[in-house]
Amino acid sequence: MSGESASAAGQSPAGSRYRRVVLKISGEGFVHPGQRGIAMDAVIHLARQIYQAAQHGVQIAIVIGGGNILRGAQFTAGNSGIHEATAHYMGMLATVINALALQDALESLGCDTRLMTAIRMDGVAEPYICRRARRHLEKGRIVILAGGTGSPFVTTDTAAAQRALELEADMLLKATRVDGVFSDDPEKNPHAVLYSELSYEDVQQQNLRVIDHEAIIKCMQHEMPIMVFNFRKEGNIEQAVRGQRVGTLVGSSG
Ligand code: UDP
Repeated sequence: MSGESASAAGQSPAGSRYRRVVLKISGEGFVHPGQRGIAMDAVIHLARQIYQAAQHGVQIAIVIGGGNILRGAQFTAGNSGIHEATAHYMGMLATVINALALQDALESLGCDTRLMTAIRMDGVAEPYICRRARRHLEKGRIVILAGGTGSPFVTTDTAAAQRALELEADMLLKATRVDGVFSDDPEKNPHAVLYSELSYEDVQQQNLRVIDHEAIIKCMQHEMPIMVFNFRKEGNIEQAVRGQRVGTLVGSSG
């Protein structure tokens, strides 16, 4: 049985541990370090890595961030003249801009994709419907999920946890710009220690910056494992999608 048909039949494809994963890519994946907006060469680099990962037949749904363009929180301080909820809706729309760029980049490499948004945008994307998303995944399409949860005051980490649960993914893969979860900010503290494995409770008790609070609670309640890894390292997305340890694994203790 080929990887794709094994995955559609509910099994992990040969050589991979997972049948289905949700990959969370922050807005920083769409731009060069320290910059804002979209850099298409960065998007193509990302798309190439996802393309390689998809060759193994694991079903991939990608939840897209928008922080390279806009985060709602940036308008909430002081008297910005924008309602807080409006600012968050603006952030959700930013994720759609990234998603459109990634969709074209993936399709230019020959990937079959579907873009689904949590806020209806009929001219550019399908509305997100869980059952339809699963069907696309079973057909081997890469499903790009934009617009977060469709509700303000949370982030796309929460959307990623939510989608991982409802799509019954085997793992939530959180792609970041550092190698995993550290005891301190590795970009500021050179002595910060990289953890290879943590429990949800460790993350909460030590207040580690892994993923948003709401997201970790959701994952903990439903025992959804999370792998936090560096997407900038060539081959990491492919290895993570196949179930190889490339960063920090967060799961149930014991
Ligand atoms: N957002 C929201 N609801 C969601 C997802 C996102 O209101 O379900 C808004 C929120 O303001 C967030 C912004 O969209 O800051 C962009 O998403 P995020 O900050 O998660 O992007 P990332 O940090 O992953 O690039």
